[in-house]
Amino acid sequence: MNTTQYDYLVVGSGLFGAVFAYKAHQAGFTVLVIDKRFHTGGNVYCENIADINVHTYGAHIFHTNNKEVWDFLNSFVSFNRYTNSPVANYKGRLYNLPFNMNTFYALWGVKTPDEAKEKIEQQRRESGITEPKNLEEQAISLVGKDIYEILIKGYTEKQWGRKCTTLPAFIIKRLPVRFTFDNNYFNDLYQGIPIGGYNKLIDGLLAGIEVKTNTDFFANRAYWENTAEKIIFTGKIDEFYGYRFGKLEYRTVRFETETLTCENYQGNAVVNYTEREIPYTRIIEHKHFEFDKQPQTVISREYPSEWKEGAEPFYPVNDEKNSALYGAYAELACKEKNVIFGGRLAEYRYYDMDKVIERALDKWDNNG
Ligand SMILES: Cc1cc2nc3c(=O)[nH]c(=O)nc-3n(C[C@H](O)[C@H](O)[C@H](O)COP(=O)(O)OP(=O)(O)OC[C@H]3O[C@@H](n4cnc5c(N)ncnc54)[C@H](O)[C@@H]3O)c2cc1C
Repeated sequence: MNTTQYDYLVVGSGLFGAVFAYKAHQAGFTVLVIDKRFHTGGNVYCENIADINVHTYGAHIFHTNNKEVWDFLNSFVSFNRYTNSPVANYKGRLYNLPFNMNTFYALWGVKTPDEAKEKIEQQRRESGITEPKNLEEQAISLVGKDIYEILIKGYTEKQWGRKCTTLPAFIIKRLPVRFTFDNNYFNDLYQGIPIGGYNKLIDGLLAGIEVKTNTDFFANRAYWENTAEKIIFTGKIDEFYGYRFGKLEYRTVRFETETLTCENYQGNAVVNYTEREIPYTRIIEHKHFEFDKQPQTVISREYPSEWKEGAEPFYPVNDEKNSALYGAYAELACKEKNVIFGGRLAEYRYYDMDKVIERALDKWDNNG
């Protein structure tokens, strides 16, 4: 007996699920969205603390070159003029990121692009590295030893939990250096934070759609599989297949969030701590994403760590072993007639927000 009540069951209300659900709903289909968390929005969800939108799952800065995606989002929410200009703190001294003329001035006192280029070239030559064997050698061969030691080494080792000399060279393909006084981290044409926060964007996408939170697909799989003609699955692909080939690995980040009774703690949304001895990689001060003026402030220290069951699976580890494992699951997924897999967990891939939205729009156009 066919007991389906919906055309689509969307498992996961992150950006992929929410965009797909919106398109299906707009096209007149019946849609149910479920999410195992207590809230919608997946990793872009923000919690309101002391009247500040706190990025619960890590700082999210929207940036894109895709005008279609930008216009699509702007039909739900306007964006502010936030420009990501992180600052690096190394042993108490501050440097602008990405590497640009401000950084080179702070490092060496050089004032012109030619002086900066000469300094980098000199350090590259002195290293004598022609065939980098690991990440350390790769970085030094690209930007010289000062930038590597002050701004890359400690940060990267904290991120990966391993020494740069044991990390493969291919992790860093290029290291962008800019010979202008431009602290804008991204090169994209469009950038900003939704005015009113990301939750407003997700609420706009899901308006008029039935949503059940605190609802895990796997807690009652047989029931959910029979509720809809098609399933859009945005959870972990290995879990979908009962981990039959083994578990995919991730890196995760632990956040230590604190409300402080000062108005402005660090004067910037993002400050990286690039020395190895400080255990966290960054401090995020959330109010600066929205130029807020509340009397208090909320900061989050970020501690990258090994992923264990129960922790958030944030970053896929796209090495040979995990890529092969994902390939085996993806082969099964290709054969599914009524299940569409999409998003960062189902595709085991890091996607920026604009890319995941692009993917969801494409999937709708081609498979919806
Ligand atoms: C720390 C961090 C910082 C980031 N910063 C940026 C940034 O600055 N700029 C940028 O462009 N991108 C950033 N990203 C990327 C961005 O988070 C992703 O592009 C986006 O969130 C992916 O959306 P998604 O729908 O694929 O996944 P998610 O947002 O993870 O959504 C998946 C949803 O599925 C739900 N789910 C999973 N399994 C089940 C189940 N069994 N039953 C029911 N529900 C389930 C989950 O609860 C979750 O809500 C960052 C990512 C991380 C990890």
